[in-house]
Amino acid sequence: MYDISIRRPKRHPQTAPPTGNAQSVFYLKHSDKPKTIIKFMKQFLTVGLAKKDKKFESFLEATKKELTAFFNSSVPEPLIFLLESRLELDLIWGQKTEKWVVGGTKNGSIFILDPKVYTQLSSHKDKNDFWKTLKHEYCHIYFRYITKGVNPLWLHEGLASYLADQKKICDDPLDVFSYFDKPGKGLYNAGYFWVDLLIEKFGKAKFLRLIKSLEPKPNLTENIFSARFCKIYGFKFDKNALTKLIK
Ligand SMILES: [Zn+2]
Repeated sequence: MYDISIRRPKRHPQTAPPTGNAQSVFYLKHSDKPKTIIKFMKQFLTVGLAKKDKKFESFLEATKKELTAFFNSSVPEPLIFLLESRLELDLIWGQKTEKWVVGGTKNGSIFILDPKVYTQLSSHKDKNDFWKTLKHEYCHIYFRYITKGVNPLWLHEGLASYLADQKKICDDPLDVFSYFDKPGKGLYNAGYFWVDLLIEKFGKAKFLRLIKSLEPKPNLTENIFSARFCKIYGFKFDKNALTKLIK
């Protein structure tokens, strides 16, 4: 039996959490127990256990199986918070979120707009996008757990989009160098492009070795990433090499 808890905030808090960046709202470490996370959430939202839902359970079970096989490692099962309003999303992110933002991960938990309001409260028009988003966020849980970070950001977002079958068109693959640790307009497109290329051209084994080499110790700069990449792929992750690859 899948023992994930789907929890649902019931009403808005009387007092909003501190505004500013998300860190000021959420400060729990990944290793903190679910109980601690819920206790913390309860300061801001009324949190309750969601009704049992067969579709959710089987989707999460299948996704967990697939991702565990892909990453060849397992992660603590995330709590999934179904949010019923954009305000809840804004509260959790500590800032006003844009219409295309429908979910995210923090502290080993997934926050996502409830399927009931998913299309209504976002710019996504297809209801099935909800399931792709859920899988995308679940993939982030693995990536963050394994790499203890989110960089390179293009790899983090590209892989989640690739595994969740959120295909993207990329007009400028070399734009990837803008997204090592900063988001931007072409982040998902460039990320998808390079993840797809690396996996299809050089195989999954090398790709997984790359993911498992991303530990930020002492810190993961672009140069350190390029050197670790070179050890695995035999060429540096730089403009010259990438230009040759896409010729
Ligand atoms: Zn993402």
